[in-house]
Amino acid sequence: RLCYFHHKYYSIQIIKNHLLLTTDASDFACGAVLSQMHGSNDLPVSFASRAFTKGEANKHIIEKELAAIHWAIMHYQPYLLGRKFLVRTDHRPLVYLFGMKNPSSKLTRMRIDLEEFDFEVEFVPGKSNVVADALSRINITSDKLKSINILQVQTRSMLRKPCLVNNNIQSRVPEPDQLHVYEAVSNEQIHKQKKLQFSLHQNKNKSTMAILLEKNFKTSLTLALGLTINNVNLPEIFKLIEKGTLQLMKQNKIENECIAISTSDTIFNYISINDFKTIGNQVLKNIKIIIYHPPRRINNPNEIQAILQHYHSTPIGGHVGINRLYKKLKNLYIWSNMKYLVTKYVKSCEICKRNKHFSSVQSKMIKTSTPCKSFDIVAIDTIGPFTMSSKGNRYAVTIQCDLSKYVIAIPVPDKSADTIARAVVEGCILIYGPMKAIRTDQGTEYKGIFESVCKLLNIDRILATAYHPQTLGALERNHRCLNEYLRIFVNDLKDNWDEWLSFYCFSYNTTPNSEHNYSPFEIVFGKPVNTFDQINLDQITPIYNHDSYVNEIRYKLQLIHNEILRKIENVKLSRTEEANKDVTPTKLSIGDKVYLKLENRRKLDIVQDGPYIIIDLDESNATIKHQTTANILKVHRTRLIKQKS
Ligand SMILES: [Zn+2]
Repeated sequence: RLCYFHHKYYSIQIIKNHLLLTTDASDFACGAVLSQMHGSNDLPVSFASRAFTKGEANKHIIEKELAAIHWAIMHYQPYLLGRKFLVRTDHRPLVYLFGMKNPSSKLTRMRIDLEEFDFEVEFVPGKSNVVADALSRINITSDKLKSINILQVQTRSMLRKPCLVNNNIQSRVPEPDQLHVYEAVSNEQIHKQKKLQFSLHQNKNKSTMAILLEKNFKTSLTLALGLTINNVNLPEIFKLIEKGTLQLMKQNKIENECIAISTSDTIFNYISINDFKTIGNQVLKNIKIIIYHPPRRINNPNEIQAILQHYHSTPIGGHVGINRLYKKLKNLYIWSNMKYLVTKYVKSCEICKRNKHFSSVQSKMIKTSTPCKSFDIVAIDTIGPFTMSSKGNRYAVTIQCDLSKYVIAIPVPDKSADTIARAVVEGCILIYGPMKAIRTDQGTEYKGIFESVCKLLNIDRILATAYHPQTLGALERNHRCLNEYLRIFVNDLKDNWDEWLSFYCFSYNTTPNSEHNYSPFEIVFGKPVNTFDQINLDQITPIYNHDSYVNEIRYKLQLIHNEILRKIENVKLSRTEEANKDVTPTKLSIGDKVYLKLENRRKLDIVQDGPYIIIDLDESNATIKHQTTANILKVHRTRLIKQKS
């Protein structure tokens, strides 16, 4: 209840702004406000208060005030560690206490506790410390309440100290699979969703009134909310959205229960995204709201060219093809004739023309199993030898995650088992954790020490064999891209190729996959990669309470993983079916009319010859006679196509 009493919005911009912690103590409780300077405004981020224990309540006021500071800093520790902040108190002696070289014994312990924090203490007269003062003067009657915090911010450190945790509030933190409001990982997710939009209307009696619109609907829903937009009314607004959309969904027979709202929506001028999420997750039961960052509209042709140049021609762009470039850009920007301009740009790229193969090698597919977590199964291969680089490298170890296709490339001087094992451990296992299985080919570099390392770390080995050469298929396709990339960026001496490896990986990992549209980066980290221009935009982004952040990331990863698994499985299945459909044994008998599938045919050649009549059959072969030429052939059964009668 308390968290609603302040109308201004608790937004925070972690990096730039100064954090303030205002504390106060009364006879029986203490309170704290964490706030941040936003321009000249002091915007509160979080409020907290706590009742003193019986022992504390009997102490002298200076100890209570110090206890308040101590508790408040520990409470907000995750936000304050490693950052300079200002503590404000209305108790002047405390300012001197922190300035003293040798304070008296009782107070020393608490002060020492705080020495790892970087802060200064400032005195503010009691009157300007209204909020913290109010929080510390809440009248608590129930004994049970006295032992717990009145208002909680869930943090990891508090979860480790169960005595401080308020069970009621903890139980309301949604489980990952119950999140109702969360931020979209990529705009791919929201393309098909209905859109939610608020707009403000002036009213005679009330200052503001919100109207809720739904786009992408034949009959757009307009709900007039007779409410002033603020946190107190937010639950009501959510209930109305839920009720309204549910009604609409029934009328339109739409089962999908997701709606999307842009971060640029009017409502976020009044309500922080974080509160929108927190309250939504508590109130919503039947629908989900996905918050998305709308693509930026670009009108200036020069800027469009600059963006295309940045995302295609630089090492970070990596000269990706038309489709992948378009997919990458459409989540971030929007301009007219976008697809056309992207196509035109890539087609006219001279570097691409000179360096890229346009033919693709066709290979038959065997449906492989798909792991369900990133970095559970990785494929490892070695490429080279390249020209010896100025740093002494001749080979590169490439490591690719089976699920996300996230790729890592590490330059190495040689391909001895020792070198490869060290590269895999340092470049992959110590960063992404030990995997369950590693695929490699039969090369000698994966024997000896490499085998011992896998055994030690309990990692399964999957060997590519002559019968299953495609085990490494994806990684080998990747090598072709890597070679193309290196050819483009390497210097004339060709001895700096190893410096470009990580640029290649970044470019590859941040480009959406053509089958499911998620980039490897998103699948691994659960968020899109920050664009380079985002840093300059003066946007207010929500501060995350650490645990809700973990919850949201986990939830989003679950969603992405489920979605891509489904898509990958579908693609694999259809490819395998495609590859195997001609191999399905057909029931044949002597006298059947059949066609012969021609081998080694070129494009546009006829596909089959016939009709033939089967004159003899055994386990694997059939003897056939051409109906018109009387030509007799003995062929494998799988080459026959039975004519449908
Ligand atoms: Zn190019």
